Amino acid sequence: MRVVFLSFVILYVVVGATFGRPSFAPAKVLDYLRRYGYLSSADVKLSGGQRIRKVYEAVKRLQRFIGLKETGNPRDPLVEELVSKERCGFQDLGKTSQFKRKRRYALHGTKWSKNSLTYRVTSYTTDLTTQEVDKTIRTGLNKWANVTPLTFKKATTGIADIELSFDKSEDRDYSFDGPGGELAYAYFPLNNVDANSGDVHFDDAEKFIVKNKRKGVHLLWLVLHELGHSLGLDHSSNKKAIMYPIHPGSKSTYGLHRDDIIGIQQLYGRFNDPIKVHGLQRI
Ligand SMILES: [Zn+2]
Repeated sequence: MRVVFLSFVILYVVVGATFGRPSFAPAKVLDYLRRYGYLSSADVKLSGGQRIRKVYEAVKRLQRFIGLKETGNPRDPLVEELVSKERCGFQDLGKTSQFKRKRRYALHGTKWSKNSLTYRVTSYTTDLTTQEVDKTIRTGLNKWANVTPLTFKKATTGIADIELSFDKSEDRDYSFDGPGGELAYAYFPLNNVDANSGDVHFDDAEKFIVKNKRKGVHLLWLVLHELGHSLGLDHSSNKKAIMYPIHPGSKSTYGLHRDDIIGIQQLYGRFNDPIKVHGLQRI
């Protein structure tokens, strides 16, 4: 690693001497590293070799988490491609996991203290019918319920434990980024009583789809993923897991992976019926 890093420093110095101050890392790569927990604000303020080293290490952590070859090069074409992909708005690495090697599911550290939860859709997208949205959310909830003792009851009025909404960026304090990029975010169970606990917000600037007939964001994938956060799961670096943060594109179906199931069962235990749990790889 030292040799590779030194080669970066030499390249930086040579390019800098030849062409003036080089832009070592593209701004969009730096933004991505900072936004998703790979680089701290203090790291960005550093200069010279210290800054290069921090960025190099952050890029390697990103590549390790996402499953790319660990070059540490912020101009790696695969890194530049990655930062343009549609993804969940949550950080990949939290404060406690920033320097750990992660290969599987991760728990946020909060969970619901009850197994019977209510949910409510408080606003809809115009991309799909109300029935399509309701059915997709119910399908997503059922997939989590099938492997845990959790139950989800729909509420039509009042405050629900998990409230789901499709929002324009101007609707919220949180600023969505328009089409592409970040697709949604959700709140962890937190202390269970905070008004935001478990809530899910979809960026309504996206084009949501439920079938592969046209291009867009597959709502079932996004619902499954964000509900994972609502229940207490963090991002997984397992590419096949629903808790992997990048939108997987068109697939014939979306479901929980063994990695997701092990994670959620760490929090809530197994579904009471052992037949439904035994041997599950995917549902
Ligand atoms: Zn996420």
